[in-house]
Amino acid sequence: MGERMSSEEEPMASSPTSFRATNKKKEKKKCELIGYEALPEWLKDNEFIHGYYRCEWPMKETILSVFSVHNETLNVWSHLMGFLLFLCLTVLTAAVIPRDGSGSSDRFDDASSVRSYWGDLMAVANVTGALRHEAACSLLLTPAAAELCGDEEKIPTSCPTNASSSLPHSQAMIQEASGGPQRAAAADVVFITADPNPITRWPLFAYLGGAMACLLTSSVCHLFLCHSERAAYLTLRLDYAGIAALIVTSFYPVVYYSFLCHPALRTLYIISITLLGAAAAAASLAPAFQAPALRPLRAALFASMGASGLVPVAHKLVLYGRRREEAVVTAGYEALMGALYGLGAVVYAARVPERWFPGRFDLVGHSHQLFHLFVVAGAYAHYRGGVEYLRWRDADKC
Ligand SMILES: [Zn+2]
Repeated sequence: MGERMSSEEEPMASSPTSFRATNKKKEKKKCELIGYEALPEWLKDNEFIHGYYRCEWPMKETILSVFSVHNETLNVWSHLMGFLLFLCLTVLTAAVIPRDGSGSSDRFDDASSVRSYWGDLMAVANVTGALRHEAACSLLLTPAAAELCGDEEKIPTSCPTNASSSLPHSQAMIQEASGGPQRAAAADVVFITADPNPITRWPLFAYLGGAMACLLTSSVCHLFLCHSERAAYLTLRLDYAGIAALIVTSFYPVVYYSFLCHPALRTLYIISITLLGAAAAAASLAPAFQAPALRPLRAALFASMGASGLVPVAHKLVLYGRRREEAVVTAGYEALMGALYGLGAVVYAARVPERWFPGRFDLVGHSHQLFHLFVVAGAYAHYRGGVEYLRWRDADKC
């Protein structure tokens, strides 16, 4: 009865029941994927992506759309996975990298450095196991306890024996023994040596923070942008601020560790890039900056900011290129990062491959997704460079 009444009265839309039904219908319609032509102006960005757009979805549906298929799904997930990768790197870096001076570089040949010096998860797992054992043994430094530790051959350790228990507690050595075919693969050596003046780790952690901020804000932006014009306005600014944070913090390990022995230069570079980044972030707050026509300008602004990194890298090579292998290796990582970011920027601005086959790459393979992958790969290359800097400066302080 009620149903019939509401269906009769629906055209008038006067009863609460029919009002709710109309609203529900509207909501359902709102949560459909639509084509480019049906988009409001503020959501039109790339005419070569023809379909699968969300448009003005309610907040709950917008959030849940992280698990559904539309043309932003892979944009959200590519940077969300990148964020999780950097979160893991941050935790591992904090947990595994010695807080102070560590092994000298001559203990690590180039081939093994790929998996050693805190980079390899297998080595990380082995080292953490050894650390736990070492800590347990350090608490039991009686000869009997040391013997017990020494007997436990299955866990690689430098647990002090009777002969070595007189070593100062400030020096603990953890050695990965090559005790079997499985262990041979992870036969890296990590030394942890207490140092009253450790090389500071903040520039690398600042970079990891900047990378996480950029990847997370980008992911949030892609998820929420469709919700409303206001949401797009806010999240796009957040996205640009995140990019500026990534670029600025990328400079910190480069500049800090390269010019560790030149405090004036170090300060000059750090202040310059921080001011430049702040200016770029401020400029990106201007509403005019969002216009689709300004896409090449946006790409150029951030690319030129990144390219200004050439100056300190070239400077580092002039100072150390002939004397320190690490200066060249880190420059190699920086070149790789620059190439990956550069390629990403070109793809972003050119909107390929969707420009060549409009509508064919709506869900998978369009330029923005490729751009995201280049960003994650470039950021990871830079992290590897950061680890190399620590290796250099731990071995060779001023
Ligand atoms: Zn993006």
